Amino acid sequence: MMRTVHLAQVNYQYGRNTFLPYSVGRLWAYASSVPALAASYALGELFFLREAPERVVRRIASPDVVGISCYLWNWQYNLALARALRAAFPRCLIVLGGPQVPSRTDGFFTEHPYVDLLVHGEGEIAFAAILRERLSPAPEYRIAGVTAAGRDGATRHTPGAGRITDLARLPSPYLTGVFDELMALPYAFHASQETNRGCPYRCTFCDWGSAVFQKVTALCPEQVAEEIEWFGRKRISLLYNCDANFGLLPQDVAVARHLVETKRQYGFPEKFRAAYAKKSSERVYSIARTLNDAGMSKGVTISLQSLHADTLEAVERHNIAVGDVGALLERYQADGIPTYSEIILGLPGETYDSFADGIARLLEAGQHRGINVYPCISLCNSEMAVPAYVARHGLRTVRVPMLLLHGSPGHDGIEEYYDLVVETATMSHAEWRRAYLLAWAVQAFHCLGLLRELAVSLMRLRGVSYRTFYEALIAFARANPATVVGEEYRATEALLDRVMAGGSWDLVEPRFGAVTWPPEELTFLRVAAEKQRFFREIGGVLVQWLPDPDPSALWRDVLAYQYLRVVTADTPVHTEILLDHDVHGYLAGSPAASPAPRRRRVRLHMEARGAFDGDWEAYARDIVWYGRKGGDGGIVGIEVEPEPRVGRPARAPAVGQVEAP
Ligand code: SF4
Repeated sequence: MMRTVHLAQVNYQYGRNTFLPYSVGRLWAYASSVPALAASYALGELFFLREAPERVVRRIASPDVVGISCYLWNWQYNLALARALRAAFPRCLIVLGGPQVPSRTDGFFTEHPYVDLLVHGEGEIAFAAILRERLSPAPEYRIAGVTAAGRDGATRHTPGAGRITDLARLPSPYLTGVFDELMALPYAFHASQETNRGCPYRCTFCDWGSAVFQKVTALCPEQVAEEIEWFGRKRISLLYNCDANFGLLPQDVAVARHLVETKRQYGFPEKFRAAYAKKSSERVYSIARTLNDAGMSKGVTISLQSLHADTLEAVERHNIAVGDVGALLERYQADGIPTYSEIILGLPGETYDSFADGIARLLEAGQHRGINVYPCISLCNSEMAVPAYVARHGLRTVRVPMLLLHGSPGHDGIEEYYDLVVETATMSHAEWRRAYLLAWAVQAFHCLGLLRELAVSLMRLRGVSYRTFYEALIAFARANPATVVGEEYRATEALLDRVMAGGSWDLVEPRFGAVTWPPEELTFLRVAAEKQRFFREIGGVLVQWLPDPDPSALWRDVLAYQYLRVVTADTPVHTEILLDHDVHGYLAGSPAASPAPRRRRVRLHMEARGAFDGDWEAYARDIVWYGRKGGDGGIVGIEVEPEPRVGRPARAPAVGQVEAP
C-alpha cells in the first residue's frame, strides 16, 4: 500500500495573492524521482495557507510522513501544526526543515516532543534519505544533516551534510507537475526561483552567510530556462528570484533576457524581484536595464545596511564604497531605473549620529525615494545570535510579534515572533527610539514624497541638511501634538511603547483595506488623506529658515509645487497650477546647472496615473503597497508651459498658507 506524504510551507495571504510552496515542492520533485520512493509514497495535500491546524488535521487521513518548511514567518504556526498532527496521528513521522530549524538543538525535543526529526541545510537529499529509512523495519535516521529525537527526548546529533554539489540532479517542482493541482485553485500565485545557491559573503546578521554556504553553485541553466517558460504559460504575475546576489554570475544576463522574451510572448511574468549583487557591476546594470525596459523591474537593490565603517566591520559586510553610491544612483536615475537601499537600524557599532548621518548621506547621494529602514532582527542561526557575539556588542533584544508587511490579518490565531535588537553597546535604547523616529520621518515624509521637493529645495537653496530638516520636523511634531504631523508622531511613539511591551506592530485601518501597513506607509496614507490641513500647518516647521512673507514668493511656489506632487485618492487625472518660478525645471536639473529656480511665469500640467475618485483602498494598494518600490507616486508626467505674464498677486501669501490649487 502506498504511504502518504504531506508537505507544508505556509505563508500569509496578500489579498488573493499567495506563494507557491516552492521549497517543499523541490523536496517532493527530488524524492519522487527516486524509483524506490515513487513506488512507496504518494504526495497528499500540499499545505500553503495559514489555516487553523485543527482544520488541516481534520481534512487528512493517515499521513505517514509530514515535512514542514520553517522560516521566521511560520515557525509558531508550524509548531502548532506539528502538535496537532502528533495528537491526531501518533505514528506519523513529523520532520521540520528550513532556515528556522535551530542549529543549536540541545533540549529541542524535550520542549517540542511532537517533532521527530530536524533537517539542517539543503533538504532534498536528506528528506529523500529519511523517506528511504522510513521504509526499513527499524528506522534509525542516522542521516547526515539530520538531528533526531533519541530515547527520552534526548537529542541525537549526526554530522552536518555538507552542500549538494550537483544541483543539476535536482528536478524542478514546476516542470514535474508538483504544483499542477494548486494552479487550479482560485489564488493568484507568486512563484519563487533559484538560479544558484550560496553567498560569498558572511554578514553576521544573516542566517545565509556562513562558511557552509559561501560557495555559489549554479542550478541547471536549461531547467531555469524551462521554468521561466512555465511561469509565462501559467500566467505568474510576480516572480521572486531567491538568489542571494542576482547578477553575480555571467549566466544571469541570459536569465534576464529570457524573462523579457517570455513576457513578450505570454504577457507574464509581469514583474520580477531580486536581491541584486552587493558589488553593483556593469553586469548588474545591464540586467537591470534589460528588465526595466520591459517594465518588469521592481527596482534594483543597492543594499548597504549601514554607511558606518565601524558597523560594516562589526557585521563583516562588504559594500560598494560609499563614495561610489552617488555615481551609481545617478546612472540608474538617468536611465529611469528605480533603485532602493536598505538600512538596518540597531547594528553593532552604530550610534545615533552615525545612523542619522548615514541616512543624510544617502539622501545627499540622490537616494530620495528608495530608502527602506528595517529594525535589526536577531535570527536564530546567524552569528548575531551567538552568545559571545551578543556579549561583545552588548546586544539587547526584545521578543515581539512579527510585523506582517501588507499581509491580510490571519485567521489562525497564531502569532509569529522575532527578536528585535533594541539596544547595543554603542546605541542606548533611548537613542534607538530616536533613530527609529528619524527613519520613520524620512521614509514617510521624504521617500514617500510628502515633503521631498521642499526638503531638496531647502538643501539646495539654503544649505539646510536633510538631517537638520527631519530632526526639526520631529521637534515640531513633538511640540504640536494637535497638528497632522503631531498626531502621527504621537501614534508612532505609542506604537513603539506597545511593541517594546511585547505588543504587535500590526497596523490596520479599514479605509485603506484589510491589510497590515508598516508604520511609515500608514503615516503617509493618513497625512495624504489630510493633505490640505497638513500643508496649512507645515509652515510652522519652515519659519525658522524662510522669510515670512517671502518677497519673491519663491517659497510659496516651492510649497505649491510640493502640494501638487502629493497625489491622493481625490486628485483628478489632470491638474494645472500657475507659478512665478520654474521650480520643476530647477529640481529636475542638477544643482550645478542652475543656482536657483528661474523666475518666469509657468503653467504646470500634472498628469496623475489614474483618478481614484476617493477610493482610498485602491489608492493605498496601487500607490503605496505596489507602488512604493519602483513607483512614481502616481504621477505620470509634469509638463512646463511658459505662460504670458498676466499680473501678479498683490502680496505673496505667507509661508505655510498654501491653499489647494
Ligand atoms: S545579507 Fe546577503 S550578502 Fe550578506 S550573507 Fe546574507 S545573503 Fe549574503
